[in-house]
Amino acid sequence: MSRTVYVNGVFLPEHDAKISIFDRGFIFADGIYEVSAVMAGKLLDNDAHLKRLERSLGEIGMPMPMPAEEIVKIQKELIARNDIVEGTVYLQVTRGAADRDFPFPPADTMQTLVMFTQKRDFTNSPAARAGIRMATVRDIRWERRDIKSVALLAQVLAKQAAAEKGCQEAIMHTADGVVTEGGSSTIFIVTANGELVTRPLSNEVLPGITRQSLKLLCDERGVPFIERAFTVDEALAAPEVFVTSAGSFVTAVVEIDGKRIGGGQPGPVARRLREIYLDEAVKAGV
Ligand code: PMP
Repeated sequence: MSRTVYVNGVFLPEHDAKISIFDRGFIFADGIYEVSAVMAGKLLDNDAHLKRLERSLGEIGMPMPMPAEEIVKIQKELIARNDIVEGTVYLQVTRGAADRDFPFPPADTMQTLVMFTQKRDFTNSPAARAGIRMATVRDIRWERRDIKSVALLAQVLAKQAAAEKGCQEAIMHTADGVVTEGGSSTIFIVTANGELVTRPLSNEVLPGITRQSLKLLCDERGVPFIERAFTVDEALAAPEVFVTSAGSFVTAVVEIDGKRIGGGQPGPVARRLREIYLDEAVKAGV
């Protein structure tokens, strides 16, 4: 069955949705995106996603296409029209369609706003049950990874390389083996003392919304949440490794480059944090 999608003020069947070939999102990847998860028909962490949208847009000289409350109305309409109980709502804002030229287009150029849903079965996913395998890949991205840019070619290549090795996610790292992020996730290790370790926020990583929510939950519960860089070797030796993202919540990593992490099964810390995150996020969902 065809989905209903949203394009520039109109809800329409996906096959009727059209964007100009001159759209700067298509030509230059001149745009920003966000993905919010839906569980039990509710949007999770959505305020934070829309705040990050506003920040990313601001960093590239674009305003919000409409107030956040209006965006939420459209997201909810799409969830209702497409019967989404578990899934995601994707949204993308570009600098609009204009004759191809690098500098910003004339000020009256209309931004493009596109939104669509994807159905997912989060509750019964194999990743939730059994964890995921990761493969290491050099991080070849630009210096503003804090901006949620639609320019994702480096991640496409990283995740394809991982997929070709039978893995569900890439661990991106620098030339000297320092971990930056997952291909589309924040990565954590759990130390022998039960501390969570993840990279501090900077221009080198996307400020993950799931990371931010998990940090709050850890602070409330007295779980040590340490923000420092770590290496691939440290991850290989860690009792547990897990990733977070809007599409994976908290997901245990059971293998890196073919080497087992912990016992090769989702560990107790990742399992517990997934439960806590989902309980709280659904409770607070809208
Ligand atoms: N890092 C990268 C590179 C990502 O693409 C994502 C997912 N968009 C994340 C981290 C996780 O962010 P969030 O928790 O906001 O989904």
